[in-house]
Amino acid sequence: MGDTADVVIIGAGIIGLSIAHQISRRDPRRIVILEKAANVAEGSTGASCAILRQRYTHTEAMTVARDGLRAHRNWARYTGLEGPRAHFHPSGVLWMMGEAPERIAADRARMASLGIDAQVLEADEVRRRFPALSTCNAPFDLTGETDHECVDHHSFLFEGDSGFFDPVSAAQDLLESVRRAGVDVRFRSPVTDVRVSGSRIDGVDLADGTSIDAPVVVNAAGPWAQRIAAMAGFEYGWTIRPIRAQVIYREWPRDVVPGPIPVVADSSAGVYFRPEASGQQILVGSILHDDEQEVVDDPDHFNANIDAAFRDLKIHALHHRIPSLPYRGQITGLAGMYTMNVEDVHAVIGPTSIEGFIVANGFSGHGFKESPSVGSMVARFLTGAPADEWDTEASMEFFSIDREPIELADTTVLA
Ligand SMILES: Cc1cc2nc3c(=O)[nH]c(=O)nc-3n(C[C@H](O)[C@H](O)[C@H](O)COP(=O)(O)OP(=O)(O)OC[C@H]3O[C@@H](n4cnc5c(N)ncnc54)[C@H](O)[C@@H]3O)c2cc1C
Repeated sequence: MGDTADVVIIGAGIIGLSIAHQISRRDPRRIVILEKAANVAEGSTGASCAILRQRYTHTEAMTVARDGLRAHRNWARYTGLEGPRAHFHPSGVLWMMGEAPERIAADRARMASLGIDAQVLEADEVRRRFPALSTCNAPFDLTGETDHECVDHHSFLFEGDSGFFDPVSAAQDLLESVRRAGVDVRFRSPVTDVRVSGSRIDGVDLADGTSIDAPVVVNAAGPWAQRIAAMAGFEYGWTIRPIRAQVIYREWPRDVVPGPIPVVADSSAGVYFRPEASGQQILVGSILHDDEQEVVDDPDHFNANIDAAFRDLKIHALHHRIPSLPYRGQITGLAGMYTMNVEDVHAVIGPTSIEGFIVANGFSGHGFKESPSVGSMVARFLTGAPADEWDTEASMEFFSIDREPIELADTTVLA
């Protein structure tokens, strides 16, 4: 007789683990997570910068981020672990986007109405709190060929209660937590087929020739999501595809570059950066649309190294924002993949036209912070359980596969 489960989740990244956690903490149904790799966080999650910011264009997206942050800020209680490996870094998030005061005031008010600690900081106050940062926001020529004259910007938006996390430790914590709850997590278990009978899910087949019968299969396969969908014969109706995303780690000489440094989104040169958890490095990524264009055709084989040109430009940008940073210092980096929903940069989450086939895909650069809320939405849909303190107030409808594309002024990772 074949194996059976109530829910099969494909993928032990932060999304699959969060869905399993949110179901299992209230419902003892038999959940199996199937992961092709030998451990958690081998896909997008392992490369994530895990920045937990709450400013978004739409209130629903802000709510999802806010409610995810509640779980991250209270990680031990949320996971039920006494000594979790991961913890929240309360650095704050500073938006240095050269915005007009009216725009900053309007967003601050919208965020405050959701209970988010959003503050307007004048340039003097930014320099007092973060002495390493320049408050110039004049755009500059990244090639360095044109002379740049710094011009101070007047005010900036600061998220006082936001910060960042360690994504791999978080995934390991969730693994421990779901296993304690009885979830069966199987590594080195690639799914090779998603079986559909009529228009209903029937189960999955695995590479070792075994199969699991189940009425519900959740596609949490990150950059491999299209492959899983194709196995089920399912088409999203959205352009969901992995792109290559690069991140640099720059040595942080604490004796010459004074802390603290918050998470910074910097429009003058198109970067974001934050302290690396150990406090020995500054991690730098891009907020530019142009840097989100390299489509990965085969997620099993992509270039995971950084490009020298990318590295040089972003480090140049970092020197503009942190003028005391010396030119000497060790630089490393990596490339990961995130899965873009090209039409509106937000994920598709929830049921599909195939009964029992649930998707949670296309998170772009938002999936880590959203993961507790994503788990909450899917778990409540599957169990019908009432909301509690770890659930999001946001509706899954916002992310529904049948929605019209969400209107956005900005379709970059900052959407
Ligand atoms: C460079 C970078 C920076 C980022 N920065 C941030 C940030 O600051 N803040 C934020 O919120 N988000 C950020 N993100 C986005 C976030 O990391 C992702 O949205 C999130 O990790 C997606 O998780 P996932 O579980 O969907 O995918 P993944 O972590 O990729 O997990 C999918 C899993 O499915 C498994 N799988 C695939 N196919 C099969 C199969 N056939 N059988 C079994 N298993 C299978 C894979 O092995 C993989 O482990 C960033 C991402 C990158 C790459």
